[in-house]
Amino acid sequence: MNTKQVVTRFPPSPTGTLHIGGARTALFNWLFARHYHGKFVLRIEDTDKLRSTRDNTDSIIESLRWLGLDWDEGPYFQSQRMEIYNEMIEELLSSGNAYYCHCKPEELERKKAEAKKRGLKPKYDGRCRELGLGKAPGAVVRLKSPLSGTTTFKDLVKGVISIDNEELDDLILQRSDGSFTYNFAVVVDDSKMGINYVIRGDDHVNNTPRQILIYKALGEPIPLYAHLPMILGPDKTPLSKRHGATSVMAYKEMGFLPHALLNSLARLGWSHGDQEKFTTQELIDLFSLDHVGKSAGIFNMEKLLDLNAKYIREVDDSNLADLLIPFLNNLGCSGLNRKKVKEAVKTLKARAKTLLEMAQGALFYFKEITYEKQADEKFLRPEVLEILEDLLSDLERTTGFAQEELEKTFSTFLERHQIKLGKVAQPLRVALTGKTVSPGIFEIMEVMGQEMVIKRLSNAISHTKSKKGP
Ligand code: GLU
Repeated sequence: MNTKQVVTRFPPSPTGTLHIGGARTALFNWLFARHYHGKFVLRIEDTDKLRSTRDNTDSIIESLRWLGLDWDEGPYFQSQRMEIYNEMIEELLSSGNAYYCHCKPEELERKKAEAKKRGLKPKYDGRCRELGLGKAPGAVVRLKSPLSGTTTFKDLVKGVISIDNEELDDLILQRSDGSFTYNFAVVVDDSKMGINYVIRGDDHVNNTPRQILIYKALGEPIPLYAHLPMILGPDKTPLSKRHGATSVMAYKEMGFLPHALLNSLARLGWSHGDQEKFTTQELIDLFSLDHVGKSAGIFNMEKLLDLNAKYIREVDDSNLADLLIPFLNNLGCSGLNRKKVKEAVKTLKARAKTLLEMAQGALFYFKEITYEKQADEKFLRPEVLEILEDLLSDLERTTGFAQEELEKTFSTFLERHQIKLGKVAQPLRVALTGKTVSPGIFEIMEVMGQEMVIKRLSNAISHTKSKKGP
Protein backbone atom coordinates (compact mmCIF):
# COMPACT_ATOMS: atom_id res chain seq x y z
CA MET A 1 0.00 0.00 0.00
CA ASN A 2 1.30 3.44 -0.91
CA THR A 3 1.66 5.77 2.02
CA LYS A 4 0.62 8.68 -0.16
CA GLN A 5 -3.03 9.66 -0.44
CA VAL A 6 -4.82 7.32 -2.82
CA VAL A 7 -5.91 9.04 -6.04
CA THR A 8 -8.04 7.12 -8.54
CA ARG A 9 -9.79 8.22 -11.67
CA PHE A 10 -12.58 7.42 -14.07
CA PRO A 11 -11.82 8.56 -17.62
CA PRO A 12 -14.75 7.71 -19.90
CA SER A 13 -14.69 8.49 -23.62
CA PRO A 14 -17.97 10.22 -24.52
CA THR A 15 -18.37 8.21 -27.68
CA GLY A 16 -21.37 6.51 -26.09
CA THR A 17 -23.38 6.56 -22.91
CA LEU A 18 -22.28 4.96 -19.63
CA HIS A 19 -22.64 1.20 -19.79
CA ILE A 20 -22.62 -1.49 -17.12
CA GLY A 21 -18.89 -2.17 -17.64
CA GLY A 22 -17.92 1.49 -17.37
CA ALA A 23 -20.14 1.95 -14.34
CA ARG A 24 -18.47 -1.02 -12.62
CA THR A 25 -15.05 0.54 -13.34
CA ALA A 26 -16.22 3.88 -11.97
CA LEU A 27 -17.66 2.21 -8.89
CA PHE A 28 -14.48 0.26 -8.07
CA ASN A 29 -12.36 3.39 -8.42
CA TRP A 30 -14.82 5.32 -6.28
CA LEU A 31 -15.00 2.62 -3.61
CA PHE A 32 -11.24 2.28 -3.49
CA ALA A 33 -10.79 6.04 -3.11
CA ARG A 34 -13.52 6.29 -0.47
CA HIS A 35 -12.17 3.29 1.44
CA TYR A 36 -8.75 4.91 1.77
CA HIS A 37 -10.09 8.44 2.23
CA GLY A 38 -8.45 9.32 -1.05
CA LYS A 39 -9.52 11.28 -4.09
CA PHE A 40 -11.61 10.25 -7.08
CA VAL A 41 -11.05 12.22 -10.29
CA LEU A 42 -13.40 12.42 -13.26
CA ARG A 43 -11.88 13.06 -16.66
CA ILE A 44 -13.72 13.11 -19.95
CA GLU A 45 -11.54 11.72 -22.73
CA ASP A 46 -13.06 13.62 -25.61
CA THR A 47 -10.15 13.84 -28.01
CA ASP A 48 -11.94 11.81 -30.67
CA LYS A 49 -13.74 14.82 -32.09
CA LEU A 50 -15.81 12.86 -34.55
CA ARG A 51 -17.28 10.39 -32.11
CA SER A 52 -17.41 12.39 -28.86
CA THR A 53 -20.61 14.30 -28.20
CA ARG A 54 -21.81 16.72 -25.57
CA ASP A 55 -24.96 14.62 -25.14
CA ASN A 56 -22.92 11.56 -24.28
CA THR A 57 -20.86 13.56 -21.79
CA ASP A 58 -24.02 14.90 -20.15
CA SER A 59 -25.53 11.45 -20.05
CA ILE A 60 -22.39 9.91 -18.48
CA ILE A 61 -22.36 12.62 -15.82
CA GLU A 62 -26.07 12.14 -15.17
CA SER A 63 -25.54 8.39 -14.81
CA LEU A 64 -22.71 8.84 -12.32
CA ARG A 65 -24.82 11.29 -10.33
CA TRP A 66 -27.78 8.94 -10.36
CA LEU A 67 -25.59 6.15 -9.03
CA GLY A 68 -24.29 8.50 -6.34
CA LEU A 69 -20.67 8.27 -7.51
CA ASP A 70 -19.43 11.74 -6.67
CA TRP A 71 -15.99 12.96 -7.70
CA ASP A 72 -13.57 15.19 -5.88
CA GLU A 73 -11.91 16.72 -8.92
CA GLY A 74 -13.04 17.38 -12.45
CA PRO A 75 -14.64 16.80 -14.75
CA TYR A 76 -11.50 17.57 -16.69
CA PHE A 77 -11.86 17.55 -20.46
CA GLN A 78 -8.96 16.31 -22.54
CA SER A 79 -10.06 18.59 -25.37
CA GLN A 80 -9.13 21.54 -23.13
CA ARG A 81 -5.67 20.24 -22.31
CA MET A 82 -3.94 20.41 -25.68
CA GLU A 83 -1.37 22.91 -24.46
CA ILE A 84 -0.24 20.58 -21.73
CA TYR A 85 0.14 17.67 -24.16
CA ASN A 86 2.10 19.91 -26.54
CA GLU A 87 4.42 20.93 -23.74
CA MET A 88 5.06 17.34 -22.82
CA ILE A 89 5.78 16.44 -26.44
CA GLU A 90 8.33 19.24 -26.53
CA GLU A 91 9.88 17.93 -23.36
CA LEU A 92 10.16 14.40 -24.72
CA LEU A 93 11.61 15.66 -27.99
CA SER A 94 14.23 17.75 -26.27
CA SER A 95 15.21 15.02 -23.82
CA GLY A 96 15.70 12.69 -26.79
CA ASN A 97 12.92 10.34 -25.67
CA ALA A 98 10.78 11.08 -28.70
CA TYR A 99 11.45 11.87 -32.33
CA TYR A 100 9.78 13.03 -35.50
CA CYS A 101 9.03 10.34 -38.01
CA HIS A 102 8.48 11.28 -41.65
CA CYS A 103 7.51 7.86 -42.93
CA LYS A 104 4.50 7.96 -45.19
CA PRO A 105 1.47 5.95 -44.13
CA GLU A 106 1.48 4.07 -47.46
CA GLU A 107 5.10 3.12 -46.93
CA LEU A 108 4.32 1.81 -43.45
CA GLU A 109 1.36 -0.14 -44.73
CA ARG A 110 3.50 -1.75 -47.39
CA LYS A 111 6.14 -2.76 -44.83
CA LYS A 112 3.47 -4.11 -42.54
CA ALA A 113 2.03 -6.27 -45.29
CA GLU A 114 5.48 -7.52 -46.21
CA ALA A 115 6.27 -8.48 -42.61
CA LYS A 116 2.97 -10.28 -42.36
CA LYS A 117 3.73 -12.21 -45.52
CA ARG A 118 6.99 -13.37 -44.05
CA GLY A 119 5.26 -14.42 -40.86
CA LEU A 120 6.88 -11.64 -38.84
CA LYS A 121 5.17 -9.33 -36.37
CA PRO A 122 4.30 -6.08 -38.13
CA LYS A 123 6.32 -3.46 -36.33
CA TYR A 124 7.69 -0.02 -37.06
CA ASP A 125 11.26 -0.57 -38.25
CA GLY A 126 12.71 2.53 -36.57
CA ARG A 127 13.75 4.09 -39.82
CA CYS A 128 13.54 7.69 -38.57
CA ARG A 129 14.62 6.88 -35.02
CA GLU A 130 18.16 8.21 -35.27
CA LEU A 131 17.74 10.68 -38.14
CA GLY A 132 17.18 13.75 -35.98
CA LEU A 133 14.36 14.92 -38.24
CA GLY A 134 12.42 18.09 -37.53
CA LYS A 135 8.77 19.01 -37.66
CA ALA A 136 7.29 18.74 -41.14
CA PRO A 137 3.87 18.38 -42.72
CA GLY A 138 2.73 14.81 -42.37
CA ALA A 139 5.26 14.02 -39.62
CA VAL A 140 4.29 12.17 -36.45
CA VAL A 141 6.03 12.11 -33.07
CA ARG A 142 7.10 8.68 -31.84
CA LEU A 143 8.34 7.45 -28.50
CA LYS A 144 11.91 6.21 -28.54
CA SER A 145 11.23 2.92 -26.81
CA PRO A 146 14.01 0.76 -25.40
CA LEU A 147 15.11 -1.87 -27.90
CA SER A 148 15.92 -4.54 -25.36
CA GLY A 149 15.03 -5.58 -21.82
CA THR A 150 11.58 -6.20 -20.43
CA THR A 151 8.79 -4.12 -19.01
CA THR A 152 7.27 -5.68 -15.95
CA PHE A 153 4.53 -4.64 -13.59
CA LYS A 154 2.67 -6.31 -10.81
CA ASP A 155 -1.00 -6.08 -11.56
CA LEU A 156 -3.00 -6.01 -8.33
CA VAL A 157 -5.51 -8.45 -9.79
CA LYS A 158 -3.65 -10.44 -12.41
CA GLY A 159 -0.24 -10.70 -10.80
CA VAL A 160 3.09 -10.09 -12.51
CA ILE A 161 2.91 -9.24 -16.20
CA SER A 162 6.05 -9.02 -18.27
CA ILE A 163 6.69 -8.18 -21.88
CA ASP A 164 9.87 -8.00 -23.93
CA ASN A 165 10.49 -4.43 -25.02
CA GLU A 166 11.38 -5.80 -28.41
CA GLU A 167 7.68 -6.53 -28.85
CA LEU A 168 6.74 -2.91 -28.29
CA ASP A 169 6.77 -0.46 -31.15
CA ASP A 170 8.05 3.07 -31.12
CA LEU A 171 4.51 4.12 -30.63
CA ILE A 172 3.01 7.28 -32.01
CA LEU A 173 2.39 9.99 -29.41
CA GLN A 174 1.22 12.78 -31.70
CA ARG A 175 -0.42 12.22 -35.05
CA SER A 176 0.35 14.20 -38.18
CA ASP A 177 -2.82 16.30 -37.71
CA GLY A 178 -1.51 17.44 -34.32
CA SER A 179 -3.87 15.26 -32.28
CA PHE A 180 -2.57 13.05 -29.49
CA THR A 181 -2.92 9.33 -29.08
CA TYR A 182 -4.84 7.78 -26.21
CA ASN A 183 -1.77 6.17 -24.64
CA PHE A 184 0.08 9.47 -24.54
CA ALA A 185 -2.76 11.71 -23.32
CA VAL A 186 -3.77 9.23 -20.65
CA VAL A 187 -0.25 9.05 -19.21
CA VAL A 188 0.21 12.82 -19.24
CA ASP A 189 -3.12 13.29 -17.50
CA ASP A 190 -2.71 10.50 -14.99
CA SER A 191 0.71 11.77 -14.00
CA LYS A 192 -0.33 15.46 -13.88
CA MET A 193 -3.39 14.54 -11.81
CA GLY A 194 -1.36 12.50 -9.37
CA ILE A 195 -3.22 9.28 -10.11
CA ASN A 196 -1.45 6.50 -8.24
CA TYR A 197 -3.96 3.67 -8.80
CA VAL A 198 -5.25 2.87 -12.25
CA ILE A 199 -8.21 0.52 -11.95
CA ARG A 200 -9.75 -0.33 -15.32
CA GLY A 201 -11.14 -3.08 -17.48
CA ASP A 202 -8.72 -5.74 -18.62
CA ASP A 203 -9.28 -4.79 -22.23
CA HIS A 204 -6.61 -2.18 -21.44
CA VAL A 205 -4.01 -4.56 -20.09
CA ASN A 206 -2.05 -4.54 -23.36
CA ASN A 207 -1.77 -0.77 -23.21
CA THR A 208 -0.17 -0.81 -19.79
CA PRO A 209 3.43 -1.73 -20.77
CA ARG A 210 3.28 0.95 -23.45
CA GLN A 211 2.04 3.49 -20.96
CA ILE A 212 4.76 2.48 -18.50
CA LEU A 213 7.38 3.27 -21.13
CA ILE A 214 5.88 6.74 -21.53
CA TYR A 215 6.02 7.29 -17.76
CA LYS A 216 9.66 6.27 -17.82
CA ALA A 217 10.40 8.61 -20.69
CA LEU A 218 8.72 11.44 -18.80
CA GLY A 219 10.57 10.50 -15.62
CA GLU A 220 7.29 10.32 -13.70
CA PRO A 221 6.32 7.78 -11.03
CA ILE A 222 4.38 4.80 -12.36
CA PRO A 223 0.99 4.16 -10.78
CA LEU A 224 -0.14 0.77 -9.52
CA TYR A 225 -2.48 -1.08 -11.84
CA ALA A 226 -5.50 -3.27 -11.29
CA HIS A 227 -7.15 -4.71 -14.39
CA LEU A 228 -10.66 -5.86 -13.68
CA PRO A 229 -12.02 -9.11 -15.10
CA MET A 230 -14.50 -9.02 -17.94
CA ILE A 231 -18.24 -8.94 -17.43
CA LEU A 232 -20.23 -11.79 -18.94
CA GLY A 233 -23.91 -12.53 -19.30
CA PRO A 234 -25.46 -15.57 -17.59
CA ASP A 235 -24.62 -17.63 -20.72
CA LYS A 236 -20.92 -16.82 -20.14
CA THR A 237 -20.53 -14.73 -23.28
CA PRO A 238 -19.35 -11.09 -23.02
CA LEU A 239 -22.14 -8.86 -21.78
CA SER A 240 -23.91 -7.27 -24.71
CA LYS A 241 -27.28 -5.99 -25.86
CA ARG A 242 -28.38 -9.59 -26.32
CA HIS A 243 -28.47 -9.90 -22.54
CA GLY A 244 -30.72 -6.88 -22.12
CA ALA A 245 -30.07 -3.21 -21.63
CA THR A 246 -26.46 -2.24 -21.13
CA SER A 247 -26.73 1.50 -20.56
CA VAL A 248 -27.07 2.73 -16.99
CA MET A 249 -29.79 5.22 -17.88
CA ALA A 250 -31.90 2.39 -19.31
CA TYR A 251 -31.89 0.84 -15.83
CA LYS A 252 -33.13 4.11 -14.41
CA GLU A 253 -35.92 4.17 -16.98
CA MET A 254 -36.82 0.56 -16.25
CA GLY A 255 -37.40 1.53 -12.65
CA PHE A 256 -34.35 0.21 -10.86
CA LEU A 257 -33.23 1.93 -7.71
CA PRO A 258 -29.70 3.24 -8.12
CA HIS A 259 -28.56 1.41 -5.04
CA ALA A 260 -29.82 -1.93 -6.34
CA LEU A 261 -27.80 -1.47 -9.51
CA LEU A 262 -24.79 -0.23 -7.55
CA ASN A 263 -24.99 -3.27 -5.30
CA SER A 264 -25.09 -5.59 -8.33
CA LEU A 265 -22.20 -3.79 -10.00
CA ALA A 266 -20.10 -4.16 -6.88
CA ARG A 267 -20.48 -7.92 -7.13
CA LEU A 268 -19.12 -8.06 -10.67
CA GLY A 269 -15.69 -9.42 -9.90
CA TRP A 270 -15.59 -8.48 -6.22
CA SER A 271 -17.11 -10.44 -3.38
CA HIS A 272 -17.29 -10.60 0.36
CA GLY A 273 -18.10 -14.18 1.19
CA ASP A 274 -21.62 -14.97 0.07
CA GLN A 275 -23.07 -11.64 1.11
CA GLU A 276 -25.37 -10.33 -1.61
CA LYS A 277 -26.77 -7.18 -0.11
CA PHE A 278 -24.61 -4.27 1.03
CA THR A 279 -25.24 -0.74 2.12
CA THR A 280 -23.03 1.86 0.47
CA GLN A 281 -21.13 2.29 3.71
CA GLU A 282 -20.55 -1.46 3.93
CA LEU A 283 -19.21 -1.47 0.40
CA ILE A 284 -16.83 1.35 1.25
CA ASP A 285 -15.70 -0.33 4.45
CA LEU A 286 -15.24 -3.77 2.94
CA PHE A 287 -13.93 -2.98 -0.52
CA SER A 288 -10.39 -3.94 -1.34
CA LEU A 289 -8.61 -5.08 -4.46
CA ASP A 290 -7.55 -8.25 -2.64
CA HIS A 291 -11.04 -9.55 -3.15
CA VAL A 292 -11.27 -8.80 -6.81
CA GLY A 293 -11.03 -12.18 -8.48
CA LYS A 294 -9.42 -13.16 -11.75
CA SER A 295 -12.56 -14.81 -13.07
CA ALA A 296 -15.17 -12.88 -14.99
CA GLY A 297 -18.13 -11.26 -13.27
CA ILE A 298 -21.55 -12.49 -14.32
CA PHE A 299 -24.26 -9.88 -14.70
CA ASN A 300 -27.54 -11.53 -13.88
CA MET A 301 -30.75 -9.63 -14.54
CA GLU A 302 -32.89 -11.99 -12.47
CA LYS A 303 -30.73 -11.41 -9.42
CA LEU A 304 -30.82 -7.68 -10.02
CA LEU A 305 -34.62 -7.77 -10.17
CA ASP A 306 -34.80 -9.66 -6.89
CA LEU A 307 -32.41 -7.26 -5.26
CA ASN A 308 -34.38 -4.31 -6.59
CA ALA A 309 -37.58 -5.74 -5.16
CA LYS A 310 -35.90 -6.07 -1.76
CA TYR A 311 -34.63 -2.51 -1.84
CA ILE A 312 -38.02 -1.19 -2.96
CA ARG A 313 -39.55 -2.74 0.15
CA GLU A 314 -37.04 -0.88 2.29
CA VAL A 315 -37.84 2.57 0.94
CA ASP A 316 -40.37 4.40 3.10
CA ASP A 317 -43.75 5.10 1.52
CA SER A 318 -43.25 8.85 1.17
CA ASN A 319 -39.96 8.52 -0.66
CA LEU A 320 -41.34 5.72 -2.76
CA ALA A 321 -44.26 7.95 -3.77
CA ASP A 322 -41.81 10.62 -4.89
CA LEU A 323 -39.87 8.05 -6.90
CA LEU A 324 -43.05 6.68 -8.44
CA ILE A 325 -44.62 9.96 -9.55
CA PRO A 326 -42.31 10.50 -12.57
CA PHE A 327 -43.09 6.97 -13.76
CA LEU A 328 -46.82 7.60 -13.38
CA ASN A 329 -46.44 10.89 -15.25
CA ASN A 330 -44.67 9.07 -18.07
CA LEU A 331 -47.58 6.65 -18.23
CA GLY A 332 -49.95 9.54 -18.76
CA CYS A 333 -51.15 10.31 -15.21
CA SER A 334 -51.14 14.01 -14.45
CA GLY A 335 -52.19 16.21 -11.56
CA LEU A 336 -51.43 13.45 -9.09
CA ASN A 337 -52.24 13.78 -5.43
CA ARG A 338 -49.06 12.84 -3.57
CA LYS A 339 -50.96 11.60 -0.55
CA LYS A 340 -52.98 9.24 -2.69
CA VAL A 341 -49.85 8.01 -4.46
CA LYS A 342 -48.40 7.26 -1.04
CA GLU A 343 -51.50 5.26 -0.11
CA ALA A 344 -51.32 3.40 -3.41
CA VAL A 345 -47.65 2.64 -2.87
CA LYS A 346 -48.47 0.93 0.41
CA THR A 347 -50.67 -1.57 -1.41
CA LEU A 348 -48.13 -2.29 -4.15
CA LYS A 349 -44.69 -2.22 -2.65
CA ALA A 350 -44.64 -5.80 -1.43
CA ARG A 351 -44.92 -7.18 -4.95
CA ALA A 352 -43.23 -4.79 -7.37
CA LYS A 353 -39.82 -5.65 -8.75
CA THR A 354 -39.30 -2.30 -10.42
CA LEU A 355 -40.74 1.18 -10.12
CA LEU A 356 -42.08 0.87 -13.64
CA GLU A 357 -43.89 -2.32 -12.77
CA MET A 358 -45.24 -0.62 -9.68
CA ALA A 359 -46.44 2.37 -11.69
CA GLN A 360 -48.14 0.07 -14.19
CA GLY A 361 -49.78 -1.74 -11.32
CA ALA A 362 -50.95 1.57 -9.86
CA LEU A 363 -52.51 2.95 -13.02
CA PHE A 364 -56.04 1.84 -12.13
CA TYR A 365 -55.96 4.20 -9.16
CA PHE A 366 -55.20 7.22 -11.28
CA LYS A 367 -56.50 6.62 -14.79
CA GLU A 368 -59.76 5.51 -16.36
CA ILE A 369 -59.77 1.75 -16.66
CA THR A 370 -60.62 -0.58 -19.50
CA TYR A 371 -61.56 -4.18 -18.84
CA GLU A 372 -59.13 -6.84 -19.92
CA LYS A 373 -60.99 -8.97 -22.44
CA GLN A 374 -60.72 -12.30 -20.63
CA ALA A 375 -61.44 -10.77 -17.24
CA ASP A 376 -64.51 -9.08 -18.65
CA GLU A 377 -65.84 -12.26 -20.28
CA LYS A 378 -65.19 -14.43 -17.29
CA PHE A 379 -66.34 -12.25 -14.42
CA LEU A 380 -68.66 -9.49 -15.57
CA ARG A 381 -71.57 -11.79 -16.45
CA PRO A 382 -75.28 -11.14 -16.17
CA GLU A 383 -75.52 -13.85 -13.47
CA VAL A 384 -73.62 -11.69 -11.01
CA LEU A 385 -75.63 -8.55 -11.69
CA GLU A 386 -78.02 -8.99 -8.82
CA ILE A 387 -75.23 -9.47 -6.32
CA LEU A 388 -73.26 -6.52 -7.65
CA GLU A 389 -76.28 -4.27 -7.55
CA ASP A 390 -77.00 -5.22 -3.97
CA LEU A 391 -73.36 -4.70 -3.07
CA LEU A 392 -73.48 -1.29 -4.69
CA SER A 393 -76.39 -0.23 -2.56
CA ASP A 394 -74.60 -1.44 0.62
CA LEU A 395 -71.47 0.45 -0.40
CA GLU A 396 -73.50 3.58 -1.12
CA ARG A 397 -75.06 3.43 2.31
CA THR A 398 -71.94 2.71 4.33
CA THR A 399 -70.14 5.61 5.92
CA GLY A 400 -66.81 3.93 6.71
CA PHE A 401 -64.42 3.06 3.93
CA ALA A 402 -61.41 2.04 6.00
CA GLN A 403 -60.32 -1.58 5.51
CA GLU A 404 -61.74 -2.86 8.81
CA GLU A 405 -65.07 -1.14 8.18
CA LEU A 406 -65.24 -2.56 4.69
CA GLU A 407 -64.54 -5.99 6.07
CA LYS A 408 -67.55 -5.63 8.39
CA THR A 409 -69.80 -4.33 5.61
CA PHE A 410 -68.78 -7.27 3.49
CA SER A 411 -69.30 -9.89 6.15
CA THR A 412 -72.88 -8.70 6.67
CA PHE A 413 -73.40 -8.62 2.95
CA LEU A 414 -71.98 -12.13 2.41
CA GLU A 415 -74.04 -13.54 5.24
CA ARG A 416 -77.21 -12.07 3.83
CA HIS A 417 -76.53 -13.67 0.48
CA GLN A 418 -75.13 -16.87 1.95
CA ILE A 419 -72.10 -16.66 -0.32
CA LYS A 420 -68.34 -16.66 0.10
CA LEU A 421 -66.15 -13.66 -0.61
CA GLY A 422 -64.67 -15.54 -3.59
CA LYS A 423 -67.95 -15.28 -5.44
CA VAL A 424 -67.97 -11.51 -5.42
CA ALA A 425 -64.30 -10.59 -5.08
CA GLN A 426 -63.23 -11.28 -8.67
CA PRO A 427 -66.18 -9.55 -10.39
CA LEU A 428 -65.62 -6.62 -8.04
CA ARG A 429 -61.88 -6.60 -8.74
CA VAL A 430 -62.51 -6.51 -12.47
CA ALA A 431 -65.08 -3.76 -11.95
CA LEU A 432 -62.62 -1.66 -9.98
CA THR A 433 -59.32 -2.36 -11.74
CA GLY A 434 -60.20 -3.91 -15.09
CA LYS A 435 -57.93 -6.84 -14.19
CA THR A 436 -58.01 -10.11 -12.31
CA VAL A 437 -54.82 -9.43 -10.37
CA SER A 438 -54.43 -6.59 -7.92
CA PRO A 439 -53.58 -5.98 -4.27
CA GLY A 440 -56.17 -7.06 -1.70
CA ILE A 441 -59.69 -5.96 -2.53
CA PHE A 442 -60.24 -4.08 0.73
CA GLU A 443 -56.87 -2.41 0.49
CA ILE A 444 -57.59 -1.05 -2.95
CA MET A 445 -61.10 0.05 -2.02
CA GLU A 446 -59.79 2.04 0.89
CA VAL A 447 -57.23 3.79 -1.31
CA MET A 448 -59.76 4.46 -4.10
CA GLY A 449 -62.31 5.87 -1.72
CA GLN A 450 -66.07 5.57 -1.75
CA GLU A 451 -66.80 7.88 -4.66
CA MET A 452 -64.50 6.13 -7.11
CA VAL A 453 -65.57 2.66 -6.00
CA ILE A 454 -69.23 3.50 -6.46
CA LYS A 455 -68.61 5.05 -9.83
CA ARG A 456 -66.64 2.09 -11.13
CA LEU A 457 -69.03 -0.45 -9.75
CA SER A 458 -71.96 1.38 -11.33
CA ASN A 459 -70.12 1.50 -14.64
CA ALA A 460 -69.42 -2.23 -14.46
CA ILE A 461 -73.08 -2.91 -13.72
CA SER A 462 -74.23 -0.89 -16.73
CA HIS A 463 -71.58 -2.55 -18.85
CA THR A 464 -72.70 -6.01 -17.74
CA LYS A 465 -76.36 -5.15 -18.27
CA SER A 466 -75.60 -4.14 -21.81
CA LYS A 467 -74.41 -7.68 -22.46
CA LYS A 468 -77.87 -9.05 -21.74
CA GLY A 469 -79.29 -7.41 -24.82
CA PRO A 470 -82.75 -5.81 -24.98
N1 GLU B 1 -11.00 6.57 -22.17
C1 GLU B 1 -10.57 5.22 -21.97
C2 GLU B 1 -11.79 4.31 -22.07
O1 GLU B 1 -12.90 4.78 -21.90
C3 GLU B 1 -9.91 5.10 -20.62
C4 GLU B 1 -9.09 3.90 -20.42
C5 GLU B 1 -8.28 3.97 -19.16
O2 GLU B 1 -8.84 3.79 -18.08
O3 GLU B 1 -7.08 4.24 -19.26
O4 GLU B 1 -11.64 3.14 -22.35
